[in-house]
Amino acid sequence: MVSGLDSKTAVVTGGGSGIGRATAERFAAAGANVVVADVDADGGAETVDAVEDAGGSATFVETDVSDAASVEAMVATAVDEYGSLDVAHNNAGIEGDDAPLAEQSEENWDRVVDINLKGVWLCLKHELAEMAANGGGAVVNTASIAGLAAAGAVPYVASKHGVVGLTRVAANQYAEAGVRVNAVCPGVIDTPMVARASEESPEEIEGFVGMQPMGRMGRPEEVANAVVWLASEEASFVTGNAFPVDGGYMTL
Ligand code: NAD
Repeated sequence: MVSGLDSKTAVVTGGGSGIGRATAERFAAAGANVVVADVDADGGAETVDAVEDAGGSATFVETDVSDAASVEAMVATAVDEYGSLDVAHNNAGIEGDDAPLAEQSEENWDRVVDINLKGVWLCLKHELAEMAANGGGAVVNTASIAGLAAAGAVPYVASKHGVVGLTRVAANQYAEAGVRVNAVCPGVIDTPMVARASEESPEEIEGFVGMQPMGRMGRPEEVANAVVWLASEEASFVTGNAFPVDGGYMTL
């Protein structure tokens, strides 16, 4: 059991599915009040139900992380609803279209970078201001092994490398304000995103899984455990890291 999350307020973007849902459930189990933020209201409501069924406390706020006003409203909802914002998991992301670089459309580039990279920056912008004014906090961004290696399509890989860069700069700039900022870099994790990618190109996903020395996909809960640890008091001297949760993929 981790410490320091009881009665804290945790926002999880992309909390309506996959890794975000698993993290929302783990934060709630550690005693945090959870703000589930997602563009998908049905998925968000399912996560809130799952948290409440397990005896936790959660609220859904419909949020598009690529929209500044929407992100500002998400942070305001956390503060209005629970009195503070202490922890954030900036996790919303999309895979985008899979095609070689020269065949990528500008539209796909803009959509992926807007959600995966600008979205994390907008979240950091509003969360860090609130946390710094409130004496501190902890943020965990979801990057990917695609943030550390050429593991995927170019807009996705570029956006996730950007998330690692944002994490390092934010950690450096907000350390004195008492805010820690880290990233998790999942390998192939069994979520609806991977199920979609697998339908589109099964060989590619099988290839990535085969490159994970553990020889299997990860489970969303295995990423959530790392996120919750990074956000907890146990990680009090850890900031600016891009932490692989990848069954050994990055040993290659
Ligand atoms: P998922 O598709 O199951 O969940 C993503 C969630 O993000 C969905 O609920 C979706 O509605 C939400 N979302 C999408 N666009 C949004 C927006 N503009 N604003 C708010 N919410 C939005 O995918 P997942 O696998 O759980 O992925 C979560 C994160 O983990 C993503 O950032 C993804 O890139 C990253 N990741 C996943 C894997 C994997 O193998 N599954 C590996 C590495 C990194």
